[in-house]
Amino acid sequence: MRELLGGKGAGLHEMASLKLPVPPGYTITTRVCTYFYAHGGKYPPGLREGVAKSVARIEKAMGRRFGDAKIPLLVSVRSGARVSMPGMMDTVLNLGLTDETVKGLEEESHNPRFAWDSYRRFCQMYGDVVLKLKPENKNDPDPFEELIDRKKTLRGVVQDVDLTADDLHELVNEFRELIRTRTGHDVPQDPWQQLWAAIGAVFESWNNDRAVTYRKINNIPGDWGTAVTVQSMVFGNLGPDCATGVAFTRDPSTGEKGIYGEFLPNAQGEDVVAGIRTPRQISLRAGREWAKRNHVIEDERRTKHATLEESFPSAYRELLKVASRLERHFRDMQDLEFTIERGKLFMLQTRTGKRTAEAAVRAAVEMTQEKLIDRGTALLRVEPVQLEQLLHPRLDPRASKHVLARGLPASPGAVAGEAVFNADEAVAVANAGRKVILVRVETSPEDIHGMQVAEGILTARGGMTSHAAVVARGMGKCCVAGCSEIEINYAAGTLSADGKVIHRGEYLTLDGAAGEVIEGRVSTVEPVMSAFFKKFLSWADAERRLGVRANADTPHDAKVARDFGAEGIGLCRTEHMFFAPERIEAVREMILAENGEQRARALAKILPMQREDFVGILREMAGLPVTIRLLDPPLHEFLPKEDSEIRELASKIGVTSEHLKQVRDSLFEFNPMLGHRGSRLGISYPEIYAAQARAILEAAEQLRTEKVRVLPEIMLPLIGERREFEVLANETRDVAKQIGTPVKYTIGTMVEVPRACVEADKIGAVAEFFSFGTNDLTQMTYGLSRDDSGKFLADYVKRGIYKYDPFAQLDPEGVGGLMRIAIERGRRANRKLKIGICGEHGGDPESIKLCHRLGLDYVSCSPFRIPVARLAAAQAAIEERRSKRAFKDV
Ligand code: ADP
Ligand code: MG
Ligand code: MG
Repeated sequence: MRELLGGKGAGLHEMASLKLPVPPGYTITTRVCTYFYAHGGKYPPGLREGVAKSVARIEKAMGRRFGDAKIPLLVSVRSGARVSMPGMMDTVLNLGLTDETVKGLEEESHNPRFAWDSYRRFCQMYGDVVLKLKPENKNDPDPFEELIDRKKTLRGVVQDVDLTADDLHELVNEFRELIRTRTGHDVPQDPWQQLWAAIGAVFESWNNDRAVTYRKINNIPGDWGTAVTVQSMVFGNLGPDCATGVAFTRDPSTGEKGIYGEFLPNAQGEDVVAGIRTPRQISLRAGREWAKRNHVIEDERRTKHATLEESFPSAYRELLKVASRLERHFRDMQDLEFTIERGKLFMLQTRTGKRTAEAAVRAAVEMTQEKLIDRGTALLRVEPVQLEQLLHPRLDPRASKHVLARGLPASPGAVAGEAVFNADEAVAVANAGRKVILVRVETSPEDIHGMQVAEGILTARGGMTSHAAVVARGMGKCCVAGCSEIEINYAAGTLSADGKVIHRGEYLTLDGAAGEVIEGRVSTVEPVMSAFFKKFLSWADAERRLGVRANADTPHDAKVARDFGAEGIGLCRTEHMFFAPERIEAVREMILAENGEQRARALAKILPMQREDFVGILREMAGLPVTIRLLDPPLHEFLPKEDSEIRELASKIGVTSEHLKQVRDSLFEFNPMLGHRGSRLGISYPEIYAAQARAILEAAEQLRTEKVRVLPEIMLPLIGERREFEVLANETRDVAKQIGTPVKYTIGTMVEVPRACVEADKIGAVAEFFSFGTNDLTQMTYGLSRDDSGKFLADYVKRGIYKYDPFAQLDPEGVGGLMRIAIERGRRANRKLKIGICGEHGGDPESIKLCHRLGLDYVSCSPFRIPVARLAAAQAAIEERRSKRAFKDV
């Protein structure tokens, strides 16, 4: 149904069939849109008759007639794709108004102000959507809004509701004059002509720039098309007993249960979202919190900012009922649009509510406890990568900060960046590799590309449901909205607040959870996990079969990983330990050594330092396995590159520059990826691996004497041949014997050369574990250098040859095929072989699901991905169980 009616149409039909108060209407399906595009803008035969019949049906239901001079029917013409694309496409309200029908409306309603307000809105939207009258420049204000502002100044009023019927009548004339001069067309005076032009314009809006950009960002196919819903108008602008608003069935930032939203009395359509006036809160509780945040005293709040609960008690009660009915029906949090006409509630939209990660987790947990959904569904509800948001740093509470202004806490996170004032500039600065905060009076769908690249978004206008707030939450981005204390000057590229002026390019910090705008850059601290988050992840742990480990090279990373729930370290790279300034010298000495003896002497300097590293990491991971990879990168990576650096180093360690250059040149490789690296280093320089093995095992032995339980796993990189493995493993065992430690350790290999997959039965017979190094395995399977692929991989994706970048998402056929061979052969040779993955794919949800299906024992990923991996692994198990069940059902 959603495919044909679009999300909005489907929601309206669903609500109507639940007997909820929905104004009558009909939906032209997406199929007509597809036809429209396939036939150069023509409609399929029969559409005219169908539309005429449907209008007649609405006329009958409403007791009004389209184009009637006395009791005119007015409709809205609304866009709606299969998935919600908020604000990306267009809608026209109050259609059916003409110079003639507006008089009928005036008399019939006894409310001239309402009639002319509706007509001016119609002219404005028709001019914008159908006749495409837009601001001439990016930074120009909307031409219609400009006329309204001028009129308000002229009349000495601040709010649009203070304009009189005559003012609005004049505005209609001014709008039409503007439209005539700028577009050469007038607003048609035949309602049918209006209707068809609006239907066509909505179809065309499917391909406007912002809709196309939005689809690209969200992977929505271009051929879905939009539906068009034509619906009888209900009016929130008839007077003070009318209103329009938006509401969520749970708080979209925190997930807390209870209606949450904003409304405006005597208003229509998007007024709330567009930030025309400061919207009011729906529930009394939220209203009180709002007042507290904004330092509004109770008396003033009650009189000037009364909540829907206070001003419209019966509509409020009805809204609560509708909200809970819809949640029970859709079994998910809903995002609602409603209008109150003369005290009576009408529902205009329902859709699944977008939410922050925090809200998604809390709502999933609480909906399970409310028995709305089961645990499996709860776990499938949350997008795994979203969880990373919850691990983002917070501002250091002890850091001093100068708060310039406070706005609405629209989307959490703590970010810093250069202030920029338009989307194109944001893209330019971000492309230069710098961080930006996009600052706008308010955002519109035209700003999407800038929002996408920004660290955070700051707006001066708009509420919690404004465009900026909704889109930022959807993108998982920090946002402070409606910050009226700042003054923005686009032309000068400045923002002023609290007596300070921040210029374009200067740093700002945003705290999206507190709604604070802070001068400069503030330091951050690690986050804490909420009780909901912990419970949610414990449910995930109960479902998953895959183990989850971390890639961590330092005791600090190890601790972070353990706190996030890592069940061990899947990859500890030893080379990073070499780069510390006091060590690199000894490493270079080792590389420059002319014989084994010299090399051993240099290594003896490194050994105690590495041992200390291992003591730290193994202690952090007490009781859990730690896989340590012996030296992997080619040695030239440790040598200086510039001639001046070489001279400096040579004099420091007492060799000639010539000798140093000679060594550097001798290490030159045409293809380092396939060169003298990995286990090949251990074969050429046995002292290096022996020293590393000694550092690991001595650290283990030391901890054993301190009664710390350690489980070291020594991993040999880049093995492709059984003998290669045996030689190096034996040398490692010899070291263990020399030390004479009773600590249990294992020796395994990283599987990253295709030959190792094919030969996995032989290697598996002697190794105790495999860990797929899928970065190299992907490079070598595709014959594709990761560092060079940037030049052409995008072309492959664009031309549809590859569906995605195989370095980001594990290739299930080719690379996955080799893995399958390796797993099957390896396990056949060694029933107890432990198998994991430690490439970057270990943190990608789709790749993790593939690892589950391949039957791996664990995945290993960066510490911040651990919760993501725990959830993805659980989802893989649930999906597998459900697909089996579905299969049985057939
Ligand atoms: P969008 O997809 O941008 O949200 P909508 O089609 O939902 O566009 O319409 C925009 C606004 O107009 C919404 O706030 C909606 O509530 C209001 N609106 C749409 N149809 C009607 C109607 N028949 N009566 C009153 N208001 C309407
Ligand atoms: Mg909209
Ligand atoms: Mg809407």
